[in-house]
Amino acid sequence: MRTALFFVLTAVAAGQTIGIDTHLDVAQRVLMEGVDLANRLKDGQVDIPRLREGGMNAPFFALWVPTFYKGSEAVRRTLDLRDAMQTLFDRHPDQIELAVTAADIERVTKSGKIAAVLSLEGGHQIDDDLAVLRMYQRMGIRAMTLTHFRNTNWADSSTDTPQHNGLTDFGKSVVREMNRIGVIVDVSHISDKTFYDALAVSSKPVIATHSSCRALTDMPRNMTDDMLKAVARNGGVVSINFFPSFVNAKDAEAGRRLIKKQNAMEPQVTGAALDAYARKVHLEGLRTMKPAFATIDDVVAHIDHAVKFAGIDHVGIGSDFDGIDSVPKGLEDIGKMPQLAAALRKKGYSEADIRKIWGGNVLRVFREVVGK
Ligand SMILES: [Zn+2]
Repeated sequence: MRTALFFVLTAVAAGQTIGIDTHLDVAQRVLMEGVDLANRLKDGQVDIPRLREGGMNAPFFALWVPTFYKGSEAVRRTLDLRDAMQTLFDRHPDQIELAVTAADIERVTKSGKIAAVLSLEGGHQIDDDLAVLRMYQRMGIRAMTLTHFRNTNWADSSTDTPQHNGLTDFGKSVVREMNRIGVIVDVSHISDKTFYDALAVSSKPVIATHSSCRALTDMPRNMTDDMLKAVARNGGVVSINFFPSFVNAKDAEAGRRLIKKQNAMEPQVTGAALDAYARKVHLEGLRTMKPAFATIDDVVAHIDHAVKFAGIDHVGIGSDFDGIDSVPKGLEDIGKMPQLAAALRKKGYSEADIRKIWGGNVLRVFREVVGK
């Protein structure tokens, strides 16, 4: 155990290992709570000191906008989140820097800083307008999930009633435009039919930034074995989500309730009143952690299952930290990641295998889709 811990920490310190957790939700805290990530925070699961300890030096920060932000309100909210992250970058240029190319990720991590990749979580954030998508790309955003928990006007979600039979023609043009301008197509959250439609249209590898395995935990947000194989054929990556409801069947019901509750929210307000509503939901929901059955062993089992079906070159890490209301025992925050490396070593994974899961696989996709 000590060997694996030592390996990860020394390799990260030497800038040899790149750690890419493809889904962190801490941008919500930066915007709504005004937390300074340079400080070790007493609560939550992510800050710069703990990202360093965990060896996750090139994480994806999701600019998630709840689906109760509709139309241009979702665009405004995306800009607010983008601005909050920029304020963090401007305040601490010695600790964190925006990464928009694979070379940026390599250079920034080598210098000992956190390379921040920005992503969007929900196709509704483009407000059905490809120009808005292009402007997000110009603002440094490098991945986007096609939906969140609700359908968009052009894609079905895995947690809503099917409406479009997958991707509409406009939805297909969104995928093509993302391919063209170098924004990674994120296939987490979308319905199975949308997933297969997106893979059929995409000329580039995709990433499921935060999904686990449905064969082990039967949740629509998780990937079936056939989907794992399809992502492998596409050259992409499935990043395993740590949310207890997605990795342990005993926690699944709590997750279903959470999704149902969120989908039922329909505040009839806009502007500052809508932001106040979002803040209330945020503080009540995610700042109170709930107990769970899941442990680090469940996460290892999901990684192992994904490797069996997709192969070692197509699996990654997408914890969903700070976007979940419970955590697995042994993986309570991003600082605990060396324990996961140790558990994988114990399971028989080599250091080279772990490097691939840790970030090597995602970096390959990033280089191919976004560019050098
Ligand atoms: Zn999500």
